[in-house]
Amino acid sequence: MDSKVVKFGGSSLADAEQFKKVAAIVKADSKRKYVVASAPGKRFDDDIKVTDLLYKCFELAIAKKNIDETFSKIKDRYNGIISDLGLDFSLEDELETIKAGIIHRASRDYVASRGEYLNAMVLAAYLGYDFIDAETCIFFDDDGNLDTEKTNRVLSELLMRHSRAVIPGFYGCMSNGTIKTFSRGGSDITGSIVARAIEAEIYENWTDVSGMLMADPRIVDNPKVIDVITYGELRELSYMGASVMHEDAIFPVKVSNIPINIRNTNSPEDPGTMIVPEASGGSPYIVTGVAGRKGFSIINIEKDMMNAEIGFGRRVLEVLENHKVCFEHLPSSIDTMSVVISTSELRSTKYEMVAEIAKVVNADRVTVEDGIALIAVVGRSMVSAKGTAVRIFSAIARENINIKMIDQGSSERNIIVGIEESDYKAAIRAIYSEFVK
Ligand code: ASP
Repeated sequence: MDSKVVKFGGSSLADAEQFKKVAAIVKADSKRKYVVASAPGKRFDDDIKVTDLLYKCFELAIAKKNIDETFSKIKDRYNGIISDLGLDFSLEDELETIKAGIIHRASRDYVASRGEYLNAMVLAAYLGYDFIDAETCIFFDDDGNLDTEKTNRVLSELLMRHSRAVIPGFYGCMSNGTIKTFSRGGSDITGSIVARAIEAEIYENWTDVSGMLMADPRIVDNPKVIDVITYGELRELSYMGASVMHEDAIFPVKVSNIPINIRNTNSPEDPGTMIVPEASGGSPYIVTGVAGRKGFSIINIEKDMMNAEIGFGRRVLEVLENHKVCFEHLPSSIDTMSVVISTSELRSTKYEMVAEIAKVVNADRVTVEDGIALIAVVGRSMVSAKGTAVRIFSAIARENINIKMIDQGSSERNIIVGIEESDYKAAIRAIYSEFVK
């Protein structure tokens, strides 16, 4: 379809000035027909997002405390936007209904969802677009999971009847008619669902940064923006903590291979980052991005001749399964097998599990090492490039850092190293500067 879906995050819709930038962006391209709105976000560092104010109202109401003061802050945010935009439009009735709902114990998800609901109404009025309530077209099943097929069917039929519309992000409806939200930041998912429903040419996700960065800017000074990244690379980097949008937002558009463009509302001339199904060309650097996370443990299992023992790995993994623990990596050698697990998963069952593993495989020794950080070096250009691993390891070695674990996914687009947490930042900087000169 000859249409673009544009989603604006909370900071892009935080006040009237931001609304004006949003309208200019939408009007600059007649293909920007479907707009997904977040709730008003922070206007300055210490500001409070409307969603957080709504959660606070909910908590106050549950504690049977007065919500007047907090609710009036919410009211002021919307009324401020409406009057500063000079709109002949009022949310007074809506606000009264919501306030009464909160006092009379409306559900937590319903309360949180009203931030997007009201903001999308204001934006629709300002743009002169139709308002479509997400309650009527985004559906969750009885287990609280998105009902992908029903949503896609209803939404695509509905959107055919609206040439231009604003849809609130973040929420939908359960089969019993109650409101359900996605997890925080979930408007990104709504945008992706809408893009899939209309088979959009592109899903533009407008935020307050000019794209995804090659490394965490709190660790690396002025990291470069990634111009093109594939869905697969993005998954690998976001799993390791690099975030530019909600992790699940990739799935709806992935079905139809729709590209996502991360853009900056405050700097619309920047091209941002394109997230694409497959990249035709390589990236300017062999490495697309570097990301990492702390908080892992390694269980090391030692047993002579373990490589010849059938069913060894299965027995170890069965112990994990029985304890409902996920593992991240499973490096092994002739006489040792290691299991890398997030420490938070392991904590309560650590000693029990270690004892069970030792028993089921009759191990010579089982030890646990905590305080491990994993770093993922991701890049589609790594697939056939020779010498990438050696560059990563040399860069780390030059910093005098010991590598505890190495894993390369079979896709060859990522190499993961495990190091001590205290070496984390230095290792990230070393890898980044090895590849980005
Ligand atoms: N307003 C919600 C949040 O703050 C959802 C979103 O902005 O995507 O998490």
